[in-house]
Amino acid sequence: MTEQIVSINPSTLQPIDNVNVTTSEGLLEIVKKARKAQTAWQDMGFDGRKPFFNRLSAYMLDHYEEIARFIARENGKPYLEAILAEVYPSIDVVNYYSKRAEKLLSDKKIPIRVFKLMGKKSYIMYKPAGVIGIISPWNYPFAIPFSEIIMALVAGNTVILKPSELTPLIGKKIQELLDTAGFPEGVFSVVFGDGRIGAELVKARLSKVIFTGSVATGRKIMATAAENLTPVVLELGGKDPMIVLKDADLDMSARGAVWAGFMNSGQTCASVERLYVDESIKDRFIELVMQYTNKIRQGDTLENESTDMGSMIDQRQLSIVENHVKDAAARGARVLSGGRRPDNLKGYFYKPTVLVDVDHSMQVMTDETFGPVLPIMTFKTEEQAIQLANDSRYALTASVWSKDIKRAEAIARQLVAGTVTVNDHIMTYGIPETPWGGSKESGFGRTHADIGLMEFVEPVHIHVDKAWLKKKPWWYPYNKKTLQFLKIMLWMTKKMKFLMS
Ligand code: NAD
Repeated sequence: MTEQIVSINPSTLQPIDNVNVTTSEGLLEIVKKARKAQTAWQDMGFDGRKPFFNRLSAYMLDHYEEIARFIARENGKPYLEAILAEVYPSIDVVNYYSKRAEKLLSDKKIPIRVFKLMGKKSYIMYKPAGVIGIISPWNYPFAIPFSEIIMALVAGNTVILKPSELTPLIGKKIQELLDTAGFPEGVFSVVFGDGRIGAELVKARLSKVIFTGSVATGRKIMATAAENLTPVVLELGGKDPMIVLKDADLDMSARGAVWAGFMNSGQTCASVERLYVDESIKDRFIELVMQYTNKIRQGDTLENESTDMGSMIDQRQLSIVENHVKDAAARGARVLSGGRRPDNLKGYFYKPTVLVDVDHSMQVMTDETFGPVLPIMTFKTEEQAIQLANDSRYALTASVWSKDIKRAEAIARQLVAGTVTVNDHIMTYGIPETPWGGSKESGFGRTHADIGLMEFVEPVHIHVDKAWLKKKPWWYPYNKKTLQFLKIMLWMTKKMKFLMS
């Protein structure tokens, strides 16, 4: 019998639909098709591929409400947030790369100085990597794989997506959108199942695997990929710090903290998970944070379109959050709001929670919580704030809040993270021009921006000698002339160094 996944709406716990789990044989067939389709897709060139992206973007602009509702239903996030952080940035990515990629993927000349005078030239051509595997999480089940799919396809690769087993229908939806835009068969496919089918995809000798998910799974994927030396990009967890300096706009910082701590029920890799505020302003700041937290309206987001916060994804994720809050309280933290599930809601809801009197002995300050919990700690000096912010296994994003932009930038430059923002948090994921990715246990490699696109191509160096010299001075036989040539080269190097110093 075919194995199935039943997808449920986490806000209502009602089943939505089923998908068939891909079998091992089915996966191999899909990989074969993707390999076959890749050559023709690559040979179309950028101009040949461009109309597919234009059609996709036009269709999505006409149907964005329906797509957002679909995402909100399977993930539990607010409908408005599904437009804000899933559909809108995805359309923007299509439009951005379908213009920008042409320039980025065109050949790049390399200046080769004196070798040019010998009739030589060098340039880089950007060849598609081949077949790309994308393994994605449930927290941004649409926007995360979608932007990676677009970067891969625009560069001439074919793609196989393995969506999270918690949000398989959104994976199916992405397939539907690309099919409607007329992408040729085999250019984009989806495989369904849990980590087992994910592991089989990693073993399938693909050209590259782009993984977004937890550190634990990232480790397994890297180990499996090592068997075939399959290159990987790992976009893993985060424990983002937010530093509020004493001259910060307190109202703005408090609103920012509440949004960046609680949006998507705190299930964002770049959520504010540690907040450090200057001791001298803590009372007023915490008062404002409480004021904005108490205004958050939580509930089934499809029933009420202006709900601020939906449900979490499942019981497992909810239990992690409950345990972190319990551990913090047992070690002396005070729960100023939330700290429990709401009484009146059936799904996987957790109240927006503000904790104070926290320290780095607590799990809530060291491990990824991935839930609506905002732990606030104080600092006395800026040096201490930097040291606390950098005291983490993770390094995805961080933020500094201050009216003194120069000072904030100076601190930003000392924080260890892939992105550091001043007076905002998270939102740069939605700017396709800017890179995304982290270091330490947050992973490596970049998606988005010009460097992100480069993850999907093989830079091939082409070197051409126009055959002006029939015998190169460095070829056999080695003799006095060879030595003379080397002496001239070194003399020229010395002169150039002198002139440039
Ligand atoms: P997860 O690691 O449990 O699962 C992610 C994906 O990997 C799923 O599709 C899953 O089925 C698959 N998988 C599981 N085991 C596998 C294996 N052995 N081989 C191959 N695939 C396997 O993560 P999750 O719970 O879905 O997502 C939450 C995590 O993702 C959080 O840690 C979050 O911080 C992180 N995340 C990071 C970013 C980023 O940009 N850095 C963005 C979003 C989420």
